[in-house]
Amino acid sequence: EPLPKAWAAGAPSTGKPAVTADSVINLDHGDPTMFEEFWRGTGSAAEIVIPGWQTMSYFSDVGNVCWFLEPGFDHEVRRLHRLVGNAAVDDGYHVLVGTGSTQLFMAALYALSPPAATAGGSAEPMSVVSTAPYYSSYPAVTDFLQSGLFRWAGDANSFKGNTYIELVCSPNNPDGTIREAVLSSKSGIAVHDLAYYWPQYTPITKRADHDIMLFTVSKSTGHAGTRIGWALVKDRDVAKKMTKFIELNTIGVSKDSQLRAAKVLKAVSDAYELPEAREEHRLFDYGRRKMIERWSMLREAAAASGIFSLPEETSGYCNFANETAATNPAFAWLRCDREDVEDCASFLRGHKILTRSGSQFGADPKYVRVSMLDRDDAYDIFVKRLASLK
Ligand code: PMP
Repeated sequence: EPLPKAWAAGAPSTGKPAVTADSVINLDHGDPTMFEEFWRGTGSAAEIVIPGWQTMSYFSDVGNVCWFLEPGFDHEVRRLHRLVGNAAVDDGYHVLVGTGSTQLFMAALYALSPPAATAGGSAEPMSVVSTAPYYSSYPAVTDFLQSGLFRWAGDANSFKGNTYIELVCSPNNPDGTIREAVLSSKSGIAVHDLAYYWPQYTPITKRADHDIMLFTVSKSTGHAGTRIGWALVKDRDVAKKMTKFIELNTIGVSKDSQLRAAKVLKAVSDAYELPEAREEHRLFDYGRRKMIERWSMLREAAAASGIFSLPEETSGYCNFANETAATNPAFAWLRCDREDVEDCASFLRGHKILTRSGSQFGADPKYVRVSMLDRDDAYDIFVKRLASLK
């Protein structure tokens, strides 16, 4: 008799397979499994139970611009931003929920492009730009369906024109830099992707108050599989159009996932705000400790190898931690300095380390992006292997 599969007893899948010393280590995606260890330690704080009869309706809050937004999720999003101080949520900001922030990114492109630019219409598609190196999904997602509404127009620094959507990712994926919009024109609009603007990755130096800001549980708490992101949107009409996109795309967003995300965010805030909370349940303290440790391991490994360079460490005063803190990006933007290596990703692939080539970010293939958020076992093997490369 074969052993029964774990899923037959209701156990979920576990994601990427476990690794051993000679495994291929896949650090191509930013899969945030590092955080599993933290959440294993939080007991029932982030647990939910959903009876069979609940979350059945399509609707959540018919009076809200975003009619499929769970009020409890809205509440916990605002509460967490007030606690961390990384983004403004008062003064009329709308909270919109999406299936990951990826769906909200698409919703923003739809909402910000002029409706006249349809197939057969006279207007040109809206140009979508971002400063290189830019997140590789931006061009891929923008041009996937070859929309008549918008099209990828490359590096913001070399863009000529007045009408555009500029994607501003800060801290930036892939290189961790702090960014501001580089284009300024009355008819240009910026979308701020603040997926990594959390204290485990960077000092919180100001309360961001841009027109459209995107966030995700994938990077804030590590719950990428829950597929929940949110947008903070100032303008009601833009919020309505973005909501319309999600209505036509997926008729709303999983309520079960929203309830889970709300409980996870609540657990994060509770650990800082409730008097009885335990210190080891503070997510951002844990995340910062972990990232500092990993970055120091990586810098040591690069130094031991001698053929790699990494971005300089920067720091600033963190208003959340009330102390000076260094940036510890979720990705390492690694350069191979060996003269004979043109393509760092294939060089590393030859040593069973999978990364994403700089060429996918509009940059030199001497660079690769390496995820810093994998599980300890994979990360440890990665740094050991890297240190041994000459
Ligand atoms: N923006 C950035 C900059 C990201 O790195 C990612 C995830 N890699 C996303 C958005 C998408 O996140 P989500 O899982 O919420 O779709």
